Order: sequence, then structure tokens, then C-alpha cells
Amino acid sequence: MSLTLRTWRRPDQGALFVVTGASGTGKTTLVRAALAAVPGIAWSVSATTRAPRVGEVDGVDYHFVSHDRFDGLVAAGELLEWAEVYGNRYGTLRAPVESALGAGQSILLEIDLLGARQVMKAMPDAVTLFVLPESLAVLESRLRGRATDSEEVIQRRLREATQQIDGCGEFQYLVVNDDLDTAHDCFQAVLVAELQRRARRETLVTAMKRPAR
Ligand code: 5GP
Repeated sequence: MSLTLRTWRRPDQGALFVVTGASGTGKTTLVRAALAAVPGIAWSVSATTRAPRVGEVDGVDYHFVSHDRFDGLVAAGELLEWAEVYGNRYGTLRAPVESALGAGQSILLEIDLLGARQVMKAMPDAVTLFVLPESLAVLESRLRGRATDSEEVIQRRLREATQQIDGCGEFQYLVVNDDLDTAHDCFQAVLVAELQRRARRETLVTAMKRPAR
């Protein structure tokens, strides 16, 4: 499937998309391609206490903040959700999400299971997707693929991955990344279908109404 969407009309009411999946399942690859293919979906830039990796840009990949600043965001209620992942804290800023949705735009959060649960509770209209690996065995061999990791690190990553996967039953959509092209198609199909919902397109309904005689 290759999306054209040449004359695609954006919905009046955007969606809040929540994407979760264990590390090593390729969810970031799917998300990046989908944001390039489907117009009108913003990427939510999370705040994190982790250090930037090579090539990451503050304000683009994450807002890199100190622990004190993160405490301040939590205390001021400025985070829609937050969680500790691999020993660092990550959180979604509430204001950009609310302003995107308020303006009819869509926004996508790529967050962990604990954060996704908080969003499902706070925003029950959120559209939730979970990216699964082909199998646990395939995931393990991918995580082992980075030959530099020690057995202890691999075991921890595997434990964390399976903890995330245990929550997949709480999500509305499951996308299996067994073949990347297929997974891109399925992932983008969900986003487009959700944005075609009639409830998001009342203007179109009104425009099609025949004048009363
Ligand atoms: P990384 O450090 O590799 O960029 O991300 C590690 C994990 O943190 C990923 O599973 C990612 O989905 C999750 N994550 C990133 N941003 C947020 C956030 O704002 N909230 C939560 N709960 N998890 C996040």
C-alpha cells in the first residue's frame, strides 16, 4: 500500500494516537514513516531526564530536562502522563496535546505501557495501537543482535520487553511487525481509517445536506 492522499480532506476533529510496543519491535520506524505519509499528525515531543544520544536534538527528539525540572513539571500538573523507563523519567507535556486537539489537529504519542494506561484513563477517546514482534523468539534474537550488550543487559531488556507485551490486550489495535512493509501498511491504514470516522467529519455531513424545500 502506498498512500497518495492527494486530495485528502483533513478531519474537523483530530485524534490522539497512542503507540506502544517493546523496544526492538521497530515502532519508531513505523511512527516516523506514518507521520511522513499521513498529513496533519503532530509528533508529541516528550520531556525526559535521560541524556541525549548522538544526533538527538533538544526540542525535536525530546525536551531534555534535569531531574529538578522534571519534578517541577510533575508538581505543576504539566504532564498528561509520565513513567520511569530504564531508570530515566519520561513524560508527555499536556499543553501541546490539548492545543493540537483543540485546533482540530491530530497528535501521536510514542510512550511506554504505564504511560499509555494513564492516557487511556485521562483521555478515553484516545486511539491506542500496540506494535508486536513476530514472536518472542524473534524479539530475543534481535535484542541479542547487538553483540556489545552483556548477558545481564540482554536479560533486563528481555524482561522489560515482555512486561510491555503483557499489556497488549489493553490496546484497540495490534500491528505485528513481521515484515516491515506489511507493518507500515497496517499501521498507516489504522491512522487513516480512524481519521475517516464520521464523527470527525461533521462539516462534510453538513455540506452534503440538501436545503429544505
Ligand atoms: P528511548 O530512551 O529509547 O528514546 O525511549 C525509551 C522508552 O521510553 C520507549 O519505550 C518510549 O516509548 C518511552 N517513552 C518515550 N517518551 C515517553 C513519554 O513521554 N512517556 C512515557 N511514559 N514513555 C515514553
